[in-house]
Amino acid sequence: MIATPAYAAESAKAPLGPFSIQRREPGPRDVLIEILYCGVCHSDIHQARGEWGDAMFPMVPGHEIVGRVAKVGAEVQRWQVGDTVGVGCFVDSCRHCEACEAGEEQYCHEGLTATYNARERGTQAPTYGGYSRRITVDQDYVLRVPEGIPLERAAPLLCAGITTYSPLKHFGLKPGDALAVVGLGGLGHMAVKIGAAMGARVTVLSHSPGKQEDALALGASEFIATRDPAVFSEHAGRFDMILDTVSAAHDYNAYLGLLRRDGTMVLVGVPEPGVLAAPALIFQRKRLTGSLIGGIRETQEMLDFCAAHRVAADVEVIKIADINAAYERMLSSDVRYRFVIDIASLAQG
Ligand SMILES: [Zn+2]
Ligand SMILES: [Zn+2]
Repeated sequence: MIATPAYAAESAKAPLGPFSIQRREPGPRDVLIEILYCGVCHSDIHQARGEWGDAMFPMVPGHEIVGRVAKVGAEVQRWQVGDTVGVGCFVDSCRHCEACEAGEEQYCHEGLTATYNARERGTQAPTYGGYSRRITVDQDYVLRVPEGIPLERAAPLLCAGITTYSPLKHFGLKPGDALAVVGLGGLGHMAVKIGAAMGARVTVLSHSPGKQEDALALGASEFIATRDPAVFSEHAGRFDMILDTVSAAHDYNAYLGLLRRDGTMVLVGVPEPGVLAAPALIFQRKRLTGSLIGGIRETQEMLDFCAAHRVAADVEVIKIADINAAYERMLSSDVRYRFVIDIASLAQG
């Protein structure tokens, strides 16, 4: 085993602090990665605070990992020492179900193996995330980080990037389409950039009027403040697609009214359950659907797309010791638009 410095929550009530974990020695098909940067996802907060009901402590969060290959197993051919690589939200899956065979491992019928707060297939050892110096991952679950994206700005692509890229691609966003992005946080800001890079005309719908300038700078052509309920009738029937990134309760019916005939609204945020009125879908044959991250093949495609279109996350790089303060700032939406931990600030060892 490889002793590895990390930052962990020892209980749902405890702040994160220094901790030591053991990484497995790379097996024949494994890659050992020295982590350079790790993005801070909203789900890290929920999980570290035990808010999703399945928390295992001590917990080392982090699933937006970028680093360099430090060692490879005897059978590894795709990766070499020194390669710049990424690891996203999962590190394994069953590999034989219909979803895995289709390259949609995120929908594995046996359940994916999350990068942290899960158990390894086989050994049942707990998985630990990217708030740590290094990680051992099966070669098939490693992504190549293409040249041209600053590494700290690449890290958030591994969750926020693929979460927004996958539905825009899957549901067929086309150049010239009218795309509405609901919410301008970590996910929303990536949706604006990626949607614009795909050639769509992007409108940001946000509760906070103060985000207008940012929305336009990120690539949106229009901003609509949703605090005024009149906007829902003013803009009725306008959009081909709505990507809804909001995790606070809001009325889906009102947003569905903004779709044109055959339009699609995709949920990637997870609010409390609300009421859906069938006529909101029936009239004008609208679709309401959801999407979860993306498979390995599609995540690689997204990284290559972002490099080709010069798309990267807007980040604020922090030291690991600032993580608890960063969580508080995220809870008050005080980040533009993703915190990324510089892992060099974690103790050597
Ligand atoms: Zn995430
Ligand atoms: Zn599977």
